[in-house]
Amino acid sequence: MGLFDKKYCAICGNKIRFLGNKKLEDGDMCGDCQKKLSPWFSERRHSTVAEIKEQLAYREANEAKVASFDATRTLGSVTKILLDEGKRQFLVSRSNSWKNDNPDVLDYAQLTGYDASVKLDKDEQKTKDSEGKSVSYDPPRYKYAYDFRVKLHVSNPYFDEMSFEVFPTVREESTLVGDIPRLIHGENYKNTMAAFDELRQTLDAIAPCLSWSAPEEEEAEAAQTAAAPQEVYGMDITRFVFPAMPKNVEEMLSLPCVSLHNPFSVAAMAVTAFCVFPENPEMCFNMVNALKGPQPLSTMDKSFIRDRFYDGKTYVPRSYLAGAVPGNNYKPDEPFTIQVDESVHSRDQFDQGYITLYITSGGADSPRPVTLRHKPSTDEWFLWNFVGLLADIRKPVSEDPWA
Ligand SMILES: [Zn+2]
Repeated sequence: MGLFDKKYCAICGNKIRFLGNKKLEDGDMCGDCQKKLSPWFSERRHSTVAEIKEQLAYREANEAKVASFDATRTLGSVTKILLDEGKRQFLVSRSNSWKNDNPDVLDYAQLTGYDASVKLDKDEQKTKDSEGKSVSYDPPRYKYAYDFRVKLHVSNPYFDEMSFEVFPTVREESTLVGDIPRLIHGENYKNTMAAFDELRQTLDAIAPCLSWSAPEEEEAEAAQTAAAPQEVYGMDITRFVFPAMPKNVEEMLSLPCVSLHNPFSVAAMAVTAFCVFPENPEMCFNMVNALKGPQPLSTMDKSFIRDRFYDGKTYVPRSYLAGAVPGNNYKPDEPFTIQVDESVHSRDQFDQGYITLYITSGGADSPRPVTLRHKPSTDEWFLWNFVGLLADIRKPVSEDPWA
């Protein structure tokens, strides 16, 4: 058999173009037939002519499913997961003209699980010294790149994994606070994280999450920078540690290191006040009112708070205490610790007397905002907007049927 012998496709019978041969285990296939295979299929060389013919029949039947697919929901923006919620089917495509690409349409039941990850790639930023040599900043500064990835595990005869990037890479750099470089997330990161949270919650309703990996280096760094003194406001106390949870207004206002002059501590006290709700809603309102100062809770505010706790979601406020995570049913470490953080946007309305601080929940990936308002005549800070603190978080294992 010479190099220039004519070859014919074992599938369609057409002559195979020069160098266009796609080898199968027991024959040859042309490029046109290869293009009709599933894009997720990678076993061509180990497939027989009979197996390929079988797959092409499946792919042809898939065209009808694509034609009747009604995309009611789209998850992700790079490679997208489209849901047909009525027929409980999904497909995955990078293209906006997916109708023409015959993407594999799968039933929800074929999704057996998924992995989600945010991968951090960290690069040091360099500067030039007096001789023009590239050197580190002191202290070092970094560039961060975050990749948002999903891997779907599926039950299908021709492929069992679909792995792809769901959102565009988010790039950030160290932010200088005073002279100290810090990792402070911008809007793009927060919005993408929130969208990724939502995507994962949607998938959770279809199939179990088999693994979730958040960028670990970042957590280590965030912890390290959180330990650095924060003197931006002349208020260096942002971490509150106490041996017992307060049960009433007096105990709350006498927790170690708290003061209405420090907005970080007012945010921390708000968490302790909401922790009282499950046992004593009226006392919770009294405690919140002590923090609201000139403008106590309205009837509407109170019914909003009751609604948030409806359905047994009593674990939400204690998720802000260090150590409380879904896996331990949000049981916090002792002594109780609340860390309150600021971001680059915390002081966007500082001139008007507002500051928005952030508290990390053990059940959510983005820190939750709480806004405080300044009262100049007494130089005190009062609780202004606490809605973010009561937002939904992941269920504790005891209430999660997939745990
Ligand atoms: Zn062919």
